[in-house]
Amino acid sequence: MELLTIHACIHMCSNAEGKRRRLRCQSLDKRSCIFCTKQDGHLHEFRTLDADVNVRLMATELQDTALLTRIEGGDLTAIEAKYYLPCLTTLRNKHRTLLREKQASRSNLQADKIEARAFVELVTHVENSLEDGTFCFKLSLLRQMYENRLCNLGLSKEINKVRFKQQVLAYFPLAQEQNDGKNVILVFEHGMQQLLKKSMECNYQENALILMKAARIVRNDIFSSNGFSFNASFPPECQKESVPASLKLLVTLLLRGGDILDQNSDDSQACLSVAQTILFNCKAKKGTCNIKSRHSLEHEPPLPLYIGLNVHTQTRSKKLIMELNHMGISISYELCQMDPHSYP
Ligand SMILES: [Zn+2]
Repeated sequence: MELLTIHACIHMCSNAEGKRRRLRCQSLDKRSCIFCTKQDGHLHEFRTLDADVNVRLMATELQDTALLTRIEGGDLTAIEAKYYLPCLTTLRNKHRTLLREKQASRSNLQADKIEARAFVELVTHVENSLEDGTFCFKLSLLRQMYENRLCNLGLSKEINKVRFKQQVLAYFPLAQEQNDGKNVILVFEHGMQQLLKKSMECNYQENALILMKAARIVRNDIFSSNGFSFNASFPPECQKESVPASLKLLVTLLLRGGDILDQNSDDSQACLSVAQTILFNCKAKKGTCNIKSRHSLEHEPPLPLYIGLNVHTQTRSKKLIMELNHMGISISYELCQMDPHSYP
């Protein structure tokens, strides 16, 4: 059996790593398929650099360690690796399935967040109406509101009537379901206002704990999000995409209240500006090295970049930019002077 020898391996054989690698390289047989290691059909050669990059990428993402070990010795064309077409197709299909699954779980997570937000806005609307003296709600209307809001937030979905009713009743256990022959009505007792007020009453310590919990949720999202990576331009959706969903939600709740009827179909610029300013000024806890500090390691959100670069282009004023930076709304003067393509 003809065994493969690689230049690099021979040169490295003086140290232990070299020996280890040489053993691996030698385990690759040029006459067998690198995917299934069989040799009973028509073998193809890898001819392009792209092929090497693609196979390596797919193997890495699929965590196919056996394959990765077989192709560790070097570029697939250089090590004269061979393959059967069906084996390559199988690998491609497996990889495609993996990507689809990843995409599906990402959009499921996104959908869950949107549904949670719309539902909170809906129950806030019901509570606000109760305070204003409305005690009966048509469930079909509530569902319609909820579906419209989901649609606004980018999720087109028909909501199951029964499940929706159960969800609302679970949230308002004191409400009663009545049927007027045509519609299902959600009815609250007149004493509900007092009960609601009572349930909202907290002492200072409880309030502080609630705020602390909210801040912790948002900070976790901030420090685990990818942020915006600036490449000398500001794409149309960059502001929206640079801000984590929980931060946008919290800022919107502060700016507009939570009522579903008071929401914009889109995130307002004011909300995005406030959220980006928070992001830009967010600092990690002292003494923890596993939480990233946005200023040193993470990319800045679009707004302070835009302000700094724009003011720099139009005024060249170091003093003005330093002032804006000090106020926490612009990147530093040093960053403004850098080539936009070489930002950290
Ligand atoms: Zn094969």
